[in-house]
Amino acid sequence: MSDRYCVFGNPVGHSKSPAIHALFARQTGEDLVYEARLAPLDGFAAAVRDFAAGGGRGANVTVPFKEEAFRLCDTLSARARLAGAVNTLSFADGRIAGDNTDGAGLVRDLMENLRTPLAGRRVLLLGAGGAARGALGPLLEQAPAALVVANRTAARADALVRPFTALYPQTRLTGGGFDALADLAGGAFDVVVNATSASLAGEAPPLPADAFAPGALAYDMMYGQGDTAFLALARRLGAARLADGLGMLVGQAAEAFFVWRGVRPATLPVLAALRAA
Ligand code: NDP
Repeated sequence: MSDRYCVFGNPVGHSKSPAIHALFARQTGEDLVYEARLAPLDGFAAAVRDFAAGGGRGANVTVPFKEEAFRLCDTLSARARLAGAVNTLSFADGRIAGDNTDGAGLVRDLMENLRTPLAGRRVLLLGAGGAARGALGPLLEQAPAALVVANRTAARADALVRPFTALYPQTRLTGGGFDALADLAGGAFDVVVNATSASLAGEAPPLPADAFAPGALAYDMMYGQGDTAFLALARRLGAARLADGLGMLVGQAAEAFFVWRGVRPATLPVLAALRAA
């Protein structure tokens, strides 16, 4: 019988993860099935335990359960601990191991698919919610020269960066409100990542006119048809390159597949298949 995996979310019907993992399985010859499972808002832990008891080998976790998944795990990877959230569960010997592959998926999309080096560059991360928190450690691992976290609620950005400053002394790391961007903290940015959910409401975080350095990449974690509000603003402000978050989604899935199967699937053909669909 094929090994069983799933993604838990609420809602989860829109999830592209079953399609992505089916393409990975076909590409690598791994024998597995992967389904979407709706967990009740007050029944996530029971749904996970039920799936594991029924022979499930692992699961992804999406909105709104990533922090609850963090609390449910018996063991945590270092990157899950730093992120304070879990998107990848592995079940073995009656225990639950938690990992977080979101930030690795973003960095892989930036560096490999979009050929955007981060070392020595100036990076702006907009937002201080779960997605920003998951991305911060993996971005800092690449040793950018400066990383500014800017958020609508300044105190959240401040609190987010504080535990990371001592861990990554090679990067000038600062956090604040959007108004702190007015002086661009010392220059325009080479990479601007939108990790706010403003695009969901058709809004863009306020950016200064000179936010983008020559050749800069504007990256929205959100994805969908056409430009998001953030990408449309970035285009108007002269960002040289634009990308949405579909590559991050495929990247985090590839990293989860590697955690479970020890095989790293190629992401570009899967990304191309999703875009074509
Ligand atoms: P959270 O709810 O945890 O955080 C939301 C963030 O957006 C907060 O920083 C919030 O600021 C900010 N925000 C919300 N509305 C506005 C607005 N109108 N203007 C400016 N800032 C705003 O969400 P997540 O971190 O989980 O998700 C953020 C985005 O990332 C979503 O669009 C999600 O779809 C996407 N995502 C994509 C992934 C992928 O694989 N491509 C993976 C994970 C997330 P404040 O603190 O002031 O409230």
